[in-house]
Parts: sequence; C-alpha cells; structure tokens
Amino acid sequence: TTILGIESSCDDTAAAIVRVGGAVPEILSSVVDGQTELHDAYGGVVPEIAARAHAEKVDLCVRAALDTAGIGLGQVDAVAVTAGPGLIGGVMSGVMCAKGIAAGAGLPLIGVNHLAGHALTPRLTDAVEYPYLMLLVSGGHCQFLLVEGAEEFTRLGGTIDDAPGEAFDKVARLLALPQPGGPSVEAEAALGDAARFKLPRPLLDRPGCDMSFSGLKTAVLRARDGEMQEGRLSRRVRADICAGFQASVCDVLGEKTRRALEIYLEQAPARPVLAVAGGVAANGPIRARLMQVAEAAGAAFVAPPLRLCTDNAAMIAYAGAERFARGHRDGMDLAARPRWPLDKASPAMLGSGK
Ligand code: ATP
Ligand code: FE
Repeated sequence: TTILGIESSCDDTAAAIVRVGGAVPEILSSVVDGQTELHDAYGGVVPEIAARAHAEKVDLCVRAALDTAGIGLGQVDAVAVTAGPGLIGGVMSGVMCAKGIAAGAGLPLIGVNHLAGHALTPRLTDAVEYPYLMLLVSGGHCQFLLVEGAEEFTRLGGTIDDAPGEAFDKVARLLALPQPGGPSVEAEAALGDAARFKLPRPLLDRPGCDMSFSGLKTAVLRARDGEMQEGRLSRRVRADICAGFQASVCDVLGEKTRRALEIYLEQAPARPVLAVAGGVAANGPIRARLMQVAEAAGAAFVAPPLRLCTDNAAMIAYAGAERFARGHRDGMDLAARPRWPLDKASPAMLGSGK
C-alpha cells in the first residue's frame, strides 16, 4: 500500500510517500519546506503568514514528493492529511489540497491527527511493538502517551502551560541568542556552570506526570535582569543561565518520565520501550537523561532520526496507512480542526472517520 501524506499544521509544509506492507515501512520520499525565515522578524509563527505560505507551497511539495519517489498518482492508494490539531488556516490548506487530489484522482481520503503522527513514528522507523510509552516533546507539545494501538492513546500527563521547546525559544530571545532557541541555548549551556543560578523545578514536588515550564522562563528573566550591567550581560553569565535552565528542564523531564514509566510498566509489556519525538529530543543532555531513566526502569530507549522527530509528512502518511488498514475513510466533509485531543477518553479521537 502506497500512501501520500500531507502536513501543514504549523510552520512546515510537507509531503511524503510511504509504502507499507513489506517487512518494514519504506519512506520513498519526504519533503519538508520550512517557513522559519518568514516568521523570524515577528518572534513567533504568524498564523496568517503561515496559512498563505502553506497554500502557495503545498501543491509544489506534493509534486516534489511524487517526483522524488519516482511515481505518479496512479500508483498511490490513498491520500492522508493532517486534519488537526494546529493553526486552522494551515490545516485547511493541506486538507483542501488533499481533497482536490482525492477527488481528482479518485483516491480514498484519510484525515490524520498530527499528534498520532508523532506518536506512531517509532513504528515507522524502529518497528516498536505496542504498548510503548511516548514522550512527545516539541515546540508546541509536551505529553506522555501510553500507545496501546494505532488509535489507542492514553495521556498520562503533560505540560499545563508552555512546551519545553517554546521555553528554549523564549529563553534564547531573553538572552539575545539566535532562533530556534533549542540548539543555541544548548550550545551556550555546554560552556556554563549549571549550579550558579538556582532555577526552580516546577511541579516536581507534586505527584503525577504533569509539568510546567512557564515559571522557569520567568525565573530566567529575573536572573538575567539581576545580572545586567549597563544593559548588557557577560558571556559567562549568559552561559551559566543557559546551563541552569537546561539542567532544570532535564531534571523535570527526567523525574516525570520516571513516573510515567512506572505507570506504563504496570501493563507488564513484553519488551518495554520509552520512545521520544519532537525537536527537543535532539538536545544532548536531555536525551542522555531520558536514556538513563529508561535504562534504570529496564526499558529500551528509542529516538527516531531528527528529521522524523520534527514535523514531517512521512509520519502522517504512516499514521494514515494504519487508519487505512483499519478501514477508515473520510468524506469530502472532512473538517480541519484547531483542537483534536489524542486520548481515547475523548470521543473526538475517532474523528470523522467512518
Ligand atoms: P509542534 O511539532 O509541536 O507543532 P514545533 O514544530 O515547534 O511544534 P518541532 O519542530 O518538533 O516542534 O521542534 C522545534 C522545537 O524544538 C523548537 O522549539 C526548538 O527550539 C526545539 N529544539 C530543537 N533543537 C533543540 C535542542 N537541541 N535542544 C532543545 N530544544 C530544541
Ligand atoms: Fe508537530
């Protein structure tokens, strides 16, 4: 089965061709066209600009994905598209494009939850078996998901405010470091002393797997303002603040992951796995901490390659393939939704699939 996937829910326009049915899923192509430079000047993604760029680029991405895979629409079995959650204008661009292709080429249409795409990525790359524990940690999301099947997710906890990636980006902005903040803060942190500034470990004293990162950002702001000399910050101080901030994120993610693993292991999985997805999983020290925590709990640590951890359409094509195999088909009334919680407790999970 060959699936065309389309993704446009945030600031990346993407299309991919994935083939399933063989021993392992095969990514025939995965095209990602980012928009960072369009939003740079505004200090964040501007929904209007994103929507317009998606509308302009999505057809080109699909064309490029087909060309790279060396196939035509005639060899595609279904079109899968992110139907939410995300910025509504962008999601609509992708959904409209997918509907056009499905109608024009007479192909089945499948709406996919963006978070399901992230959550299923370890099966696309590493043939991980259910149930596994997924930590999705990106610029927009931070949650623990118990993945028991292609459409069975239980949310064990998550951030109650900012996502860690967002916190890295904001900290970078506060310290005049380049965007995206993750890599630049990580590089500074490597030069700094994490013990110099005592930053908080939010919610660590509370039971459960919920997290909070917005207070941390405020603590960074205070530390910075306390150290400013004539409106400037020494490189030393900047590195120390970055190191302190990153150490706090490590501690919080590490401890909450330990607790989530405890809950997951009650299911007595035959081969326990902690999988991660999202751009923050690229962070060296965070990754090392998660690996350590997984090992201590007797679970294998699985981190897909970064290009599949961040927003892409291969994960959407793969999640679409799983839905397709289960007989899901969407109609031309498939709606783009800004919110679409990924939890079996929520009936919205079933989408408009029939
Ligand atoms: P989402 O996928 O949730 O809609 P997104 O597109 O912002 O949001 P990703 O593309 O998965 O998320 O990841 C981007 C985020 O990851 C950014 O916030 C970036 O700062 C962060 N990030 C990237 N590299 C690192 C790193 N080395 N350390 C920490 N954070 C990082
Ligand atoms: Fe994403």
